[in-house]
Amino acid sequence: MKTTSPLLRDTLGRPLRDLRISVTDRCNFRCTYCMPREIFGPDHAFLPRPELLSFEEVSRLARLFHGLGVNKIRLTGGEPLLRKQIESLIGQLAGIPGLDLTLTTNGALLARKAQALKDAGLRRVTVSLDALDDPTFMRMNDADYTVAQVLEGIEAAQRAGFAPIKVNAVIQRKVNEHAVVELARHFRGTGVILRFIEFMDVGATNGWRMDNVVGAAEILGLLQQQWPMEPVDPNYPGEVAERYRYRDGSGEIGLIASVTQPFCQGCTRLRLSTDGRLYTCLFATEGVDIKTPLRAGADDESLVQTISDLWQRRSDRYSEIRSQASQSRHKIEMSYIGG
Ligand code: SAM
Ligand code: SF4
Ligand code: SF4
Repeated sequence: MKTTSPLLRDTLGRPLRDLRISVTDRCNFRCTYCMPREIFGPDHAFLPRPELLSFEEVSRLARLFHGLGVNKIRLTGGEPLLRKQIESLIGQLAGIPGLDLTLTTNGALLARKAQALKDAGLRRVTVSLDALDDPTFMRMNDADYTVAQVLEGIEAAQRAGFAPIKVNAVIQRKVNEHAVVELARHFRGTGVILRFIEFMDVGATNGWRMDNVVGAAEILGLLQQQWPMEPVDPNYPGEVAERYRYRDGSGEIGLIASVTQPFCQGCTRLRLSTDGRLYTCLFATEGVDIKTPLRAGADDESLVQTISDLWQRRSDRYSEIRSQASQSRHKIEMSYIGG
């Protein structure tokens, strides 16, 4: 196989480093900001099973991506723990040497699955949790899941030895601003890294408005009113979260300011959808089909060529040009493309 890894750069000079793989477009939650029930209701057509990439197909692509310089893979969805036998895929990917393999989950099934995921070779996990009170959390997930179920999942992950565990919270104006300090108070001193994400205009169904975004600076201000905080250097160049730590040594938090301080310049990510399409941006309007050539018997070299050509053509920087971008453009839903 051709190894073009150190040279593969897009038109803005960004290397290809991260791959997000959506392993299912289904979810047991109906978060209002991601899969609103009015759109993803009983009549919504999810992908039929034959359209899903098999674990063997995903693993083969993952190895090719690794050869092209990808050193981090995140499994996502939809809800990745709904994919049957996800441990088996993890086992296959965990065998790729030097790969940082992680998974993002809503946590509802984590209490049951944490140990099996760890045993399969998963090293890191991120859990989404937007509030600590049931009325707010259940209004946001719109599927009757309680805070306690997710906290049990996080505790099971801690017991299984995942460390550090990250918790992601999307903050929306007048919905869960109060959760900022409550979540911070809960996770301070536990070793869990809490990360606040600005509400984004992903997809076309979540009714996004700039007025509903609580900016990272405001979130930091809310935290600083409670605890003295100081910035921490990034772990690596291009890290998306800005890091801060509590001055009293109770750990750190992250701020993901995708809307107010876009980080497209350092964006080294590609996304593989559940049905085998490649997307070079979360806000992409179309993807490149890699499943058809894969199933038609393409050899490694030609698949690598398809990926390389796509990356070398890439010029995406949607978040930096959001205000000029046409609001009528057809964006892909996050649950399909992989958050
Ligand atoms: N179901 C899993 C979960 O919720 O963790 C994985 C997929 S989900 C699409 C991945 C992440 O995207 C979650 O942390 C979720 O909160 C975040 N997300 C979804 N919609 C978003 C939006 N409109 N703005 C910001 N973050 C969003
Ligand atoms: Fe499901 Fe995750 Fe989207 Fe919520 S954010 S609806 S849990 S995919
Ligand atoms: Fe990357 Fe696109 Fe997000 Fe910019 S908008 S950081 S290019 S995914």
